[in-house]
Amino acid sequence: MNRTESLAWHNRSKTVIPGGVNSPVRAFGAVGGTPVTFASGAGAYLTDVDGNRYVDLVGSWGPMILGHAHPAVTAAVGAAVQNSSSFGAPTQAETLLAEAIVERVSAVDLVRFVSSGTEAVMTAVRLARAFTKRRLIIKFAGCYHGHVDALLVQAGSGVATLSLPDSPGVTNSQTADTLVLPYNDRETLQAVFATHGQDIAGVITEAIPANMGVVPPVDGFDLFLRDLTRSHGALLILDEVMTGFRLGPGGWWPQFAGIWEPDLFTYGKVIGGGYPLAAVAGRRAIMEQLAPVGPVYQAGTLSGNPVAATAGLTTLELLDDNVYAHLRATAAQLSTSVSNALTVAGVSHQLQAADSLFSVFFTDSPVRNFAEASRQNTAVFAAFFHALLDRGVYLPPSAFEAWFVSAAHDDEALSQIDAALPDAARAAAQASS
Ligand code: PLP
Repeated sequence: MNRTESLAWHNRSKTVIPGGVNSPVRAFGAVGGTPVTFASGAGAYLTDVDGNRYVDLVGSWGPMILGHAHPAVTAAVGAAVQNSSSFGAPTQAETLLAEAIVERVSAVDLVRFVSSGTEAVMTAVRLARAFTKRRLIIKFAGCYHGHVDALLVQAGSGVATLSLPDSPGVTNSQTADTLVLPYNDRETLQAVFATHGQDIAGVITEAIPANMGVVPPVDGFDLFLRDLTRSHGALLILDEVMTGFRLGPGGWWPQFAGIWEPDLFTYGKVIGGGYPLAAVAGRRAIMEQLAPVGPVYQAGTLSGNPVAATAGLTTLELLDDNVYAHLRATAAQLSTSVSNALTVAGVSHQLQAADSLFSVFFTDSPVRNFAEASRQNTAVFAAFFHALLDRGVYLPPSAFEAWFVSAAHDDEALSQIDAALPDAARAAAQASS
């Protein structure tokens, strides 16, 4: 596959943008080679600047749940833009989107919009500390919550990819109030709460950890977290930036309504419909700590941007039961094909999934936490990745990421992937031998 133009653009980009990318994992550091520069997307497909076409399994890391350039979203955005793209003042679109979220998630009374998942998490952590008047936050190793200074310790995603334990520029004092614990480990949590309980403001967890690959909670873990936090007066923050409105009409949590309830949620990705928009949300008593009602400061020039809110609202309205059923069926079919091809080629792997979110670990035992995820053979993934790329399938360029399907992934797209899988599995087998 000729990617001369991609190479030229990457080299040009590197002269003006660090590493030629605006988010590290895009640089292909974990798989080697040159990132692809894209020109357009339509439905399940991407076209690069050389004119090569790929089935997209990244979906901009989650937002493109309806596929690229969905006609209804594009039309709604086109109409919104005619009325100006920003006011820095209230608009109808943000209220309509907040109403749509409140309607879909019974544990949410109020929503505050921001522009990225990172900001949403930053605000949720600030709120938890202000509300409880405590300082410590517990996060889990391998969970990524954006590049918030205080949480950039043993984070997954790009940080896992680059094997950075944390980041230079983040001082000890910024992370001193963060405790990092292994995921799915009740004993350690219990011990830490027994010692530090009175200082713990909250626990933040991904609804389904998917930034170290997909690592679902073991049975009862979330309920345990809820009981433990509540009994010590700490808040539970459920990060649904990746899972929100992707794994069901209200995200991952609503299936547990009436059983357990987090105090705060963070959302992003899908709620912006491919535009920069995210949110922190939760019960009134906590959310009303935010300025201007309460004393906790938080603000943003483009927060609640009407174009992004319109794209998000249009996306949510199109996500009906049929779409969710399609996402689940597509993910099941695709992940089974991938697993079968790897098995036939004799490649050790673990397929892990929650609803339509899945990933493949190149290891021979199940993964329940970051330490186990880190044992996988990333060289095997790199070989698999490049073989698929050269055959027109664009996977996330890291073994530590979830794969994303969309409403637009149809039989034709799946057949194109199926046709590429045997060769890619053989390449993976060669790399593992
Ligand atoms: N939280 C989770 C679970 C994420 O997956 C991400 C991004 O991938 C974030 C937070 C940060 O969101 P953003 O990249 O919009 O800052």
